[in-house]
Amino acid sequence: MSTPIIVMGANGRMGRTICTLVQEDPAFTLAGVVERSEFAAGLAALSCPVSQNVEELLQSLDMVESVKRVTEPFKQANRKFHPNDTIVEAGPARIGGGYFAMIAGPCSVESEEQIVGIAKAVKESGATILRGGAFKPRTSPYAFQGMGADGLRLLEIAKQESGLPIVTEIMNINALDLFENVDVIQVGARNMQNFDLLKELGKTRKPILLKRGLANTLQELLMSAEYIMSEGNENVVLCERGIRTFETCTRNTMDISAIPVLHELSHLPVVADPSHATGKSRYVSAMACAAVAAGADGLMIEVHNDPEHALCDGAQSLTPAQFDEVSRKVNAIREALV
Ligand code: PEP
Ligand code: MN
Repeated sequence: MSTPIIVMGANGRMGRTICTLVQEDPAFTLAGVVERSEFAAGLAALSCPVSQNVEELLQSLDMVESVKRVTEPFKQANRKFHPNDTIVEAGPARIGGGYFAMIAGPCSVESEEQIVGIAKAVKESGATILRGGAFKPRTSPYAFQGMGADGLRLLEIAKQESGLPIVTEIMNINALDLFENVDVIQVGARNMQNFDLLKELGKTRKPILLKRGLANTLQELLMSAEYIMSEGNENVVLCERGIRTFETCTRNTMDISAIPVLHELSHLPVVADPSHATGKSRYVSAMACAAVAAGADGLMIEVHNDPEHALCDGAQSLTPAQFDEVSRKVNAIREALV
């Protein structure tokens, strides 16, 4: 196994020199070089087998100030090796690196009229991606399980009618063929550590919206992203959706600090889901604003035309009019931040 090594140079020329040195030695793989000004230290990132003790050799060079083999368990998702923000593209939408995604739609697709109507309404209010569940992970086996393949078909119709790209959850890798026209595949909180599913999704090149598990640490979320990325799929979007705590006034506890922490540790875009985080529609606006102020690259908000009669998560769903109001506030906050 190879692990990355960060080499900090004593002056700005170091990056190029290390680059040349390393290219001549087949034992090294150059992961990238960042060069700064003449006065600042150069920085080089190498990848080298763990078995090889190159640290001493590098440290003995005059131009090298310090050498650090990175021991963090996640590498591809790590900002240390990929300092620039990753921008994930989903149809016409972009997420990350200054691009903001407003993802909105019902918890579950219920009918053509419902999903097409909501798609058009949320687009009007500034949504850039339509969400809608077809395969639903429900706590009770007796609760509505989603429309399945029929739901995906209706989402595709809504995509055509509205022009919005679509995101929907996968629960079983055997259903992957059905997701051909889906722009972003969601891995729900309950499947965040379904490693076989993550590995298979890593073999595709579809953008993956990876939701934080109900009781998972940020390190575990990043390790799950690593499972997808280590198979070659770099299009991963992280999603904070609230975690389980002792609090009972809200469905979960929104971890706002997850947003700056994930941005520090990783180059992947981070979106926030204030709907599942709070479970109550009246708190969604405040949490959406807080997430945006904390630097979220996007929001995922549940919107239903008739929340009282929704087949799933009605209590946390906004009406299209309420979503419009949240969208305006979010835009105002984003403008104030720049
Ligand atoms: C959802 O987005 O509808 C969903 C089920 O979310 P989570 O996996 O975060 O509970
Ligand atoms: Mn839901």
